[in-house]
Amino acid sequence: MIRKILFSLLLIFFWAMPVYALDVLAPSEVGRGEPFWVDMRSDERPLGIKVGWMDREFAVPVELPGGQRVLLGAGLDKKGEHELRMIFYWDEESQEKTFNITVKDKDYPEQHLSLPEEMVTPPQEVHERIARDREQIRSALGTLTTDRYWEEDFREPVPGDVSSPFGVQRFLNGQPRSAHQGVDLRGPEGTPVKAIARGRVVLTGDFYYGGKTVILDHGQGIHSLYMHLSSIDVREDVFVSQGETVGEVGMTGRATGPHLHLGVYVLGDAVDPMYLLDR
Ligand SMILES: [Zn+2]
Repeated sequence: MIRKILFSLLLIFFWAMPVYALDVLAPSEVGRGEPFWVDMRSDERPLGIKVGWMDREFAVPVELPGGQRVLLGAGLDKKGEHELRMIFYWDEESQEKTFNITVKDKDYPEQHLSLPEEMVTPPQEVHERIARDREQIRSALGTLTTDRYWEEDFREPVPGDVSSPFGVQRFLNGQPRSAHQGVDLRGPEGTPVKAIARGRVVLTGDFYYGGKTVILDHGQGIHSLYMHLSSIDVREDVFVSQGETVGEVGMTGRATGPHLHLGVYVLGDAVDPMYLLDR
């Protein structure tokens, strides 16, 4: 009996529903520093899709029906409750789906290093340069291109193992420093560094901490960053395909040995690249 009533109620509920059937699947919780996918499916192709997440709102190129995915992420410092809004537009109607996503705390390992004091605190004369570098990098990572240049399955940039994972909380001579915003991958000097996905070169430069650096904009708020390169093989504004060489492994900037620092950013927030690399 109860089942029958429930079934009737469900039917009434569905009759009252909008015309187009729309399925959106988002996780209810993710760990801080983790990227995640939102899957959506609709029987009728919408004219537009908009996503609102972490104070950013952007349009997504429509690839439905059949289904498509949007890649989002939760920054290391975004612990707490966050609302995800997905808005779909057709000629006659629009539908909005909202989700409450809990960004959980996640324990990342600590690393304690003792270094000579002059290596820990940069000299006064480079403070301005460091601030300028930071601003340039932040602004490159903040570009939001509506087009999506990338395909799923990001490719590894070098074949080497991880020497320092994402999220590690570093302490230099007992003082906490910012958490590791990428992964360090082993590789001998000169190893070609390959683009993890197709994208446009939005920044190349030689920075105090990162040394020779390349940043790619993959579109849809996704960026990848390659640091400590011995050489840069691309110019700003050019497009590179997945697997194309952007530079070579080195130890420029603040590095104690040759390695690639790889960062992956979603809407300007660093996420763990290892979730996305196909290796
Ligand atoms: Zn690193």
